[in-house]
Amino acid sequence: MIIRVKAKTLNSLTVGGNTSIGSVDISFNELGIPGSSIKGAMRTAISKAIEEGEVSGYSSCGEIEPSKMRDCDVCRVFGYPNHEGIVNVHGVKIAPHAVLTRVKIDDATLKAMDKSLFKQEVIKPNTEFEFIVEVKDNASCREIKLVLLSLFYLRLWRLGRGGMIDLKVEEFPQGCDFSDLESLKRWLWE
Ligand SMILES: [Zn+2]
Repeated sequence: MIIRVKAKTLNSLTVGGNTSIGSVDISFNELGIPGSSIKGAMRTAISKAIEEGEVSGYSSCGEIEPSKMRDCDVCRVFGYPNHEGIVNVHGVKIAPHAVLTRVKIDDATLKAMDKSLFKQEVIKPNTEFEFIVEVKDNASCREIKLVLLSLFYLRLWRLGRGGMIDLKVEEFPQGCDFSDLESLKRWLWE
């Protein structure tokens, strides 16, 4: 099943390069934010919320280092070595004019370095974008709720280095009771 998410940057968001999110998996055709980076931030946000007691009824081993991950609710939903997980993020749509591209500047000459592989994109504040969270059809209501909670807490966490985003999910998957997550249907930071 598909959960469509509308999001917007609250401050400028840096993508790519070697200092921030998406350093290895950003493709040159894909402008902006890699889905895998959003998924990673969702995972971190819900892990923190569980550890800090904001969310009860779910377990989290709290690990982001794959070799140390142990079986827990967060790992079962988001995946860990040899376990695929039930959620993926893709289809990030962002207006090209919202993205500024930087190249590496040589500190000595203050000129752009010709052969630099460094490429960094900066997404302007207050840029709206969309992405798709795909959840396996056999997921339980409890697992889907963990995915929605991870989106909820992503609004209080960060994407990349200090990037804050707001987001909302206008339509929840059918067949489960998510009535205590109604506020996820509206922007949080307005
Ligand atoms: Zn775990």
